[in-house]
Amino acid sequence: MKIKRQKNSKKIVKFYKRSYNFKEPFQVLLDGTFCQAALTNQINIKEQLPKYLNGQITFYTTSCILHELNNLGKPVYGAFHIAKQYKIKTCDHVDKSIAANKCLLSMVKKGNPSHYWIASQDPEITSKLSTYISVPLLYISYKAIHLTKPNDLTHKTADNLISQSLLNPSSLSKNVIKELSALDKSPKETSAKKQSKKNKYKLS
Ligand SMILES: [Zn+2]
Repeated sequence: MKIKRQKNSKKIVKFYKRSYNFKEPFQVLLDGTFCQAALTNQINIKEQLPKYLNGQITFYTTSCILHELNNLGKPVYGAFHIAKQYKIKTCDHVDKSIAANKCLLSMVKKGNPSHYWIASQDPEITSKLSTYISVPLLYISYKAIHLTKPNDLTHKTADNLISQSLLNPSSLSKNVIKELSALDKSPKETSAKKQSKKNKYKLS
């Protein structure tokens, strides 16, 4: 089970690195719900997340998230204590903080150009991110960290990026060349693979 989970995460990390140019140290934005779940599931985030993503990580939160946790008080004191240890990524709400989930979503709009990873258990975030492009979502379940598979839109956009590079070869990056040569070798296999990925995504 553990091996399967790590194999899946490896594949997803590779996808984001290749198709969207995610680089180490990965910038992970964590909210209070994730910190709370880590406490409940006895997961040491700083220790286990780099192992899970197999790369260096810089951990961030936002002032809106800290503000919300502080307001919620005693029930989330542990999560607040954990979140306080992370660096604060400046959001657009310095003057007046907004709800933590809205703040996080605002950080990854328009194709997530800053290449953030989101770590959250918030249902609104999970649901909204299923329609966002290129935002990897980390969550905790059954005492383990998981990474959500890229949604269809994210896959399609990655494919489009490759086609655009074909029209404008000067923009070809090394990674795109690699992707293209893989497509050239086995177009049928690639499309079959894509289909099964799609099905799995719907099932899970
Ligand atoms: Zn904010």
